[in-house]
Amino acid sequence: YHAKSHKTGVAVFRKEMNRRASERFQLATHLRRAAELDQLQLHYQPQVQLDDGAVVGAEALLRWHHPQLGAVSPAHFIPVAEETGLIVPIGEWVLRQACRQGAAWQRAGHPPIRIAVNVSALEFEGDGFVETVTACLRDTGFPAQWLELELTERVVMRNVEESVRRMHLLRALGVCISVDDFGTGYSSLSYLPHLPINILKIDRSFVSGLNPTSANLPVVQAILSLATSLRLETIAEGIETEAERRILRTLGCTLGQGYLFAPPRPAEQLYGA
Ligand code: C2E
Ligand code: MG
Ligand code: MG
Ligand code: MG
Repeated sequence: YHAKSHKTGVAVFRKEMNRRASERFQLATHLRRAAELDQLQLHYQPQVQLDDGAVVGAEALLRWHHPQLGAVSPAHFIPVAEETGLIVPIGEWVLRQACRQGAAWQRAGHPPIRIAVNVSALEFEGDGFVETVTACLRDTGFPAQWLELELTERVVMRNVEESVRRMHLLRALGVCISVDDFGTGYSSLSYLPHLPINILKIDRSFVSGLNPTSANLPVVQAILSLATSLRLETIAEGIETEAERRILRTLGCTLGQGYLFAPPRPAEQLYGA
C-alpha cells in the first residue's frame, strides 16, 4: 500500500512537472514574439523623498499584455525570459525605451528625474552590456547621470571580482548603480565597501508592516546605518502605509517607492493625465 501510494505520488509529481514545463514552453513561444508585436510596455513607478513627497526618480517595470493570456505578471515571465535567454534582447529594449522616455521628459521641460532599470544576470554578464548601455545613452541623448541600473545582490555576488570590474566600467560612463532587494540575497557584507554602488534599495519584505515593535526594525536600522557609513542613498521599496513612511523617515531613510505614493503607471500618467 505504501509503495503504491509513493508511486502515485511520483506520477502526480511528474505530471505536474510536465505541465509546468509545457506551460513555460508556451510562455516562451509567446514571449519570443511579444516585443515585435508591441505587446510589451514599460510602466513607471515614482521614487519620492519621504519628507515632502517630491518625485526624484522612477523605476521602469516591464508589462506584458498578451491578447489571449491577458496581463502576464513579470514574476511569471521574467524567469522564463531569463531561462530562454530572451531577457537579453528584451532587456536591451527596456533600456533603450527607458532612456528614450527619460530624454523625452527632460525635453518636455520636466525637472530631471533618475530613471531606474532592472538588469538581469544574463544581461549584466553578457559581453556587450557596457556597449549596449553606451549605445542607448548615445542614441537617445539621455544624460548618463540620470540613468540608474538596478542589480540584485545575487547577480553581483555570482562572480564578485568580474562584477566589480564591470560596475566600474558602468560608473565610468556616469550611470548610477543600485542594489535591488537588498537584504534578501546572500550578500557578504565584507564586499559591500568595495562595490562601486550608489544606492541600496531596502526590500519590501522588511518594509511591509514595519512598526516600532517589528522584528524587522533592527534589520532596517542596520541597513540604514550601513548606508550612512558607506555614504550610500537608501530607497525603501513597497511602502503602502503612512505609518511605514513615517517610521522609515524617522529612522533616516530618505527615499521610497510604493503604492502609498503611486503604483507603476504608463509613462503618460507619471505627471498626471
Ligand atoms: P523589483 O525590481 O523589486 O520591483 C518592485 C516590484 O514591487 C514591482 O513588481 C512593483 O510593481 C512592486 N511594488 C511596488 N510598490 C509596491 C507596493 O507598495 N506593494 C507591493 N505589494 N508591491 C509593490 P512587478 O512590476 O510585478 O515586478 C516584479 C519583478 O520583476 C521586479 O521586482 C523585477 O525583479 C522584475 N522586473 C520587472 N521589470 C523588469 C525588467 O524590465 N527587467 C528585468 N530584468 N526584471 C524586471
Ligand atoms: Mg527593481
Ligand atoms: Mg526591488
Ligand atoms: Mg523586490
